[in-house]
Amino acid sequence: NFRLAPKLAAQAEAAFLRPNPKLQHALSNSVDKGLPPISVLPMAGQYLSILTQLIGAKSVLEIGTLGGYSSICFAEAGARVTSVEINPKHRDVAIENVQGLDVEVLLGAALDVLPKLLEEGRQFDLVFIDADFKDHWEQFDMAVKLTRPGGGIFLDDVVASMFKNGYPGEGSESLLTRIGEDERVRATLMPTVASHPMLTTPVFNGFIMAIVKSH
Ligand code: SAM
Repeated sequence: NFRLAPKLAAQAEAAFLRPNPKLQHALSNSVDKGLPPISVLPMAGQYLSILTQLIGAKSVLEIGTLGGYSSICFAEAGARVTSVEINPKHRDVAIENVQGLDVEVLLGAALDVLPKLLEEGRQFDLVFIDADFKDHWEQFDMAVKLTRPGGGIFLDDVVASMFKNGYPGEGSESLLTRIGEDERVRATLMPTVASHPMLTTPVFNGFIMAIVKSH
């Protein structure tokens, strides 16, 4: 019975997640400083951390820092993190939260900062896109150019964002179609269900994972 899925998700969270002082501090400090509670859920953070270790990612580019929760997940898994954040307040809180870890936070809009990273010849093993959904295709396109061949792109919030924007709206269809037609990548969409500490209903969502074949 699929309605039990959130209960199972909650049980798995209780079973799999171990106390992590850095992550716990990031969450409480972010709440104290008035940041919105929209960081990746703990199990998703753990997934990102496992993914980082599985592919041996040494460099991660993140679009959307917020308070640095997911940055910590990547950094603690052994990657150097470059994270882009448009909101100076979020950037400031993130810098507090990632102290002592190999995380640089660049202030600016993704579509302004990413071309500069490209100009500098930067290449990443993994790119995590977790910002505003409206520029997703442009951010994905830039991410492909910034990912080394064989590296991966994780595009978060795809399902929730599409439903929020009135699925099957033009945006969602064109994003899926464009990624599907993009010969530079091979991609999949993974639906997810989770419990959320602040919600009584299950959170249905899903992410796109792509491997970059060439530029
Ligand atoms: N990755 C974070 C985590 O899991 O802890 C959560 C990121 S939150 C969902 C999205 C963040 O992206 C917000 O802090 C927002 O200010 C930032 N953002 C929105 N549009 C952006 C853009 N165009 N460029 C860079 N950052 C952006």
